[in-house]
Amino acid sequence: MNPIPILMYHNIAAAPKGVGLRGLYVSPLRFARQMALLRLLGYRGLSMSHAMPYLRGEQEGKIAVITLDDGYRDNLENALPVLQRYGFTATCYVVSGAVGAHNHWDAEQLGLRKALMDAGELREWLTGGMEIGAHSRYHPRLPEVDARTLEDEVAGSRQELEDLLGIAVTQFCYPYGAAGGRERDAVQRAGFQGAVTVRRGRARPGMDLFDLPRVLVGGHHAPHVFPLQILTPHEDRH
Ligand SMILES: [Zn+2]
Repeated sequence: MNPIPILMYHNIAAAPKGVGLRGLYVSPLRFARQMALLRLLGYRGLSMSHAMPYLRGEQEGKIAVITLDDGYRDNLENALPVLQRYGFTATCYVVSGAVGAHNHWDAEQLGLRKALMDAGELREWLTGGMEIGAHSRYHPRLPEVDARTLEDEVAGSRQELEDLLGIAVTQFCYPYGAAGGRERDAVQRAGFQGAVTVRRGRARPGMDLFDLPRVLVGGHHAPHVFPLQILTPHEDRH
């Protein structure tokens, strides 16, 4: 069966000058070229929910999963039109306690406040045909919090997003990709169907659905890296 690259993006925008973590930014033009290349190679870009039958091994096909972490407003402005142009779907993982706010968890470290989608913008993302998954309530490192906080961050983020948006939230993304057995159990117990990490690699049907690896698509990569990441074991060796 085909390996399934689960692509991980953060901001789809030009990187502001002087920002150290250029890896977090993919320009709109580059994102559009990457989606065009997926199409050209015969891949369909799918959200996590749409990809579940493939990840479970119930369905076969050439697919790539498109995920965007944190819920930045630039995803709505710059990624949504491109995704729609190619008939692709994608999952945006939202920090439920920071809707309409900014990246409080790393703004200081980055020296940069980045706008997160508010409730109206999240609804636009949904009506545009895209998915919203949960990314905790406050973006802590889950292995470092006590049991009660863990439940609150995991089950609470699902509840908060479902109440706010009136949708079912079935996908989770561990903040910083940090998760051990206790965190995976909590996510499963909260009723999620899948969860992604930041461990490098392409997913394969039959893998643990609560410990899925991803492919970091960084703005700092040379353009030829993207096809290597999708088509070859480039990511799998690490
Ligand atoms: Zn995050």
